[in-house]
Amino acid sequence: MNPALDLNRHPCFHAESHGHCGRIHLPVAPRCNLKCAYCNRRYNCVNESRPGVTSAVLSPHQAVGYLERVVAAEPRISVVGIAGPGDPFANPDETLTTLRLVRERCPEMLLCVATNALGLPPLLDELPALGVTHVTVTVNAVDPAVGASLYAWARDGKVIYRGPEAAAVLLERQRLAVTGLKARGILVKVNCIVVPGVNDHHVAEVARTVAGWGADVLNVMGLVPTAGTPLADVPEPGPELLRELRAEAERFLPQMRHCRRCRADAVGLLGEDRSGEFAPLLQEAAEAPPPLRTDRPHVAVATREGMLVNQHLGEARSFQVWARKGAGFLLVEERPAPPPGGGPDRWRRLAEGLGDCRAVLVSGVGEGPRAILTEAGVVPIEMDGFIELGLSAVFSGVDPTRFRRRRAGCSRGPGCGGDGSGCG
Ligand code: SF4
Repeated sequence: MNPALDLNRHPCFHAESHGHCGRIHLPVAPRCNLKCAYCNRRYNCVNESRPGVTSAVLSPHQAVGYLERVVAAEPRISVVGIAGPGDPFANPDETLTTLRLVRERCPEMLLCVATNALGLPPLLDELPALGVTHVTVTVNAVDPAVGASLYAWARDGKVIYRGPEAAAVLLERQRLAVTGLKARGILVKVNCIVVPGVNDHHVAEVARTVAGWGADVLNVMGLVPTAGTPLADVPEPGPELLRELRAEAERFLPQMRHCRRCRADAVGLLGEDRSGEFAPLLQEAAEAPPPLRTDRPHVAVATREGMLVNQHLGEARSFQVWARKGAGFLLVEERPAPPPGGGPDRWRRLAEGLGDCRAVLVSGVGEGPRAILTEAGVVPIEMDGFIELGLSAVFSGVDPTRFRRRRAGCSRGPGCGGDGSGCG
């Protein structure tokens, strides 16, 4: 961690700084591993302000380009956070790649992550290595019987837990996460969302428990009743109830009282949000193609018969490797792909195997491998059609996104030989 970083410049952890230090949330984490009964991530209205809402989802490279433009216009930004719109650690490749890129390009920024912590424990050592200084963990219940009313399911790898079992698994991960973060010197805020009639009687117990784990501060937040969720008709807790609960919880932990319940693409000072103003920059960033490494002589292609780009990244057992030759193109060789399975390691091995390629043309690719390959300089380009058309565009520097199909989540091909849990 950079010792010159002033940890007090986080406006949420330090109330004194919220009038002059700002934060930006980079929306790079679309997937979630937990079904909270109050959450609906389908809405992206620019006028709606609550966690889980964003106008766009960015890739790590797009996010860092967007960050640089925003910071040039709003130099009071001192914290870069990842807070969704899903959970950062349900999107570990995108999250860690983004944090790494921000640390390289903007070393003066504090790094912050807001999470349910279900997927955090295996990644604990990565965070201090990347210079993450602050983490927020949402803990709404420390009794699985209470948590069962708040979480419909929790997904851990390929296993889905439901009811009290989901809440118990989540609670244990949260304990491991908070104690592990504190053991690594990271500041931890716990958010507790108050749902009247469900956990309002339980907030002091949450405060007592997370204080025992070592948390630094508690943010008792009111539920935002949201259409399309099981808790849509539960009334928002009033200011009097929140005041009482915070006073009770303060016996165990300092309280945050200035939370603005920010969107996953929030920008600016807490009291002067500029996300609406910067929404056009966010949209432009979401459409920006990743930079291609023109020093790499080759382009890889996923193809069945050698004429069309028609294989998903995960189903290709080998890749054709092409070079430019005169006015045309030369097939250099057919290179085997790493065997299916192995999660992210499979894509890291593929990136190594295609280390001389600036791009790989595919008919589809999941978000996890996209992030890994792009960071390694092998940009996956989704397209349909003749190989020659794709090669011609990529080698002549034409914007390759013109070949990108409309993406609707993972577009795995029917013959994908992945491990059944998606490309990530
Ligand atoms: S939601 Fe609350 S804690 Fe999170 S960034 Fe906004 S003000 Fe800070």
